[in-house]
Amino acid sequence: MTYPYVIAGTGAAGLSLAFYLAQTSLRNQKILLIDKNLKNQNDRTWCFWQKHSSPFEEIIFRKWQKIAFFSRFLEKTLDIAPYSYKMIRGIDFYQFVQNFIQKNSHFEFLQAEIYEMKENSEVVVLQTSQGEIKAKYAFNGLWQLPQNFERKKGYFYWFQHFKGWFLKTQEAKFEADRIYYMDFRVPQKEREVRFGYVLPFSSQEALVEFTVFSNHLLSSQEYLIELKNYADNILGLPNYEISETEFGVIPMFDAPFVSQKTQRIIPIGTRAGAAKASTGFAFDRIQKQTRFIAENLNKNNKIILPKSKARYQLYDSALLNVIEQNRISSEEVFSILFAKHPIKRIFRFLDEESSWLEEIQIMNAMPWKPFLQAVFENWKNRR
Ligand SMILES: Cc1cc2nc3c(=O)[nH]c(=O)nc-3n(C[C@H](O)[C@H](O)[C@H](O)COP(=O)(O)OP(=O)(O)OC[C@H]3O[C@@H](n4cnc5c(N)ncnc54)[C@H](O)[C@@H]3O)c2cc1C
Repeated sequence: MTYPYVIAGTGAAGLSLAFYLAQTSLRNQKILLIDKNLKNQNDRTWCFWQKHSSPFEEIIFRKWQKIAFFSRFLEKTLDIAPYSYKMIRGIDFYQFVQNFIQKNSHFEFLQAEIYEMKENSEVVVLQTSQGEIKAKYAFNGLWQLPQNFERKKGYFYWFQHFKGWFLKTQEAKFEADRIYYMDFRVPQKEREVRFGYVLPFSSQEALVEFTVFSNHLLSSQEYLIELKNYADNILGLPNYEISETEFGVIPMFDAPFVSQKTQRIIPIGTRAGAAKASTGFAFDRIQKQTRFIAENLNKNNKIILPKSKARYQLYDSALLNVIEQNRISSEEVFSILFAKHPIKRIFRFLDEESSWLEEIQIMNAMPWKPFLQAVFENWKNRR
């Protein structure tokens, strides 16, 4: 048989797309979801800020309304209301969405490794560990960081990479209602962004992370040394027990890279550039992207990917250039951002929903020269 649609990869993007499609008239179609993993492990946690309630509100693991920023230039706690900073555990998301789809649609799940996806004028043919599968269209949410990939001239291929511990201290050491969003007290390196990050669950339990934005990864030993230094010496945590660890690499690429939309194979999620180039945040952007695709498919029977606004790509690339060329330190850039603006303006800017006036206010507070140099250099390098 030929499926009308296959969703390849049931990570955040594949499952989210299926979740929104299962709420439309397409719920009665035989859509096939394929992943090599059963998605029954807690392989990551997602955090994002939101003003409104989420369709996943009942599985939000924690939410906070106070975020702290630390650097040599600024120490500030911001009340982020009406926003909340929310956390979802991967396993809760996978189970919740899988159950929803099973109850509300005729979609099928298949555990299989996909070796190849090719299209002709009529169908997409998938070669998998469970045999050949045909579909009219395939949404490609397969994501694995490639070892080697082609880099376009003049673009930035940075990563957000981090190591974290879920830990428990013997004494009360955390304020359960306040996260450390960016803690620049960790040792800094030029041409990179390095910060600590703390998500407390109680006065004794937290996820403590060491995060880097840079154009290269570190050795596993380096993450460990920096994380331990952050926990022991900067946070001053006494004896603690580590129950779980988290390691992640998120692409912060300012160029479309793995694959473009073809007639019948449509990239989604990270593969479609959902991770923002200047922050690495992806989860909420994946929700917006997949909801948009599902709504259009339902209303207009057309597969359309949301278009990103070019001016935000310009800002993201300018920031990456400023840091990579060491025009100003990342610590200074983020300190200015958090010192000079209300959190609503910052979130709206990072969500790519700000007004021109807000963007002028943000740019006006930054030193102009390094950013203008960055914009000019990016333009020149891409010609
Ligand atoms: C540890 C970690 C923490 C993160 N935390 C945050 C966060 O706090 N906030 C945020 O906004 N973003 C976060 N991200 C970034 C982003 O939100 C996630 O990576 C998100 O899961 C991306 O969704 P995706 O669907 O594109 O990819 P994935 O969720 O990785 O899904 C890809 C799927 O493809 C499957 N697959 C791959 N190759 C094959 C194959 N050949 N055959 C069959 N199946 C295959 C995989 O098994 C997987 O299920 C985090 C990322 C990581 C790695």
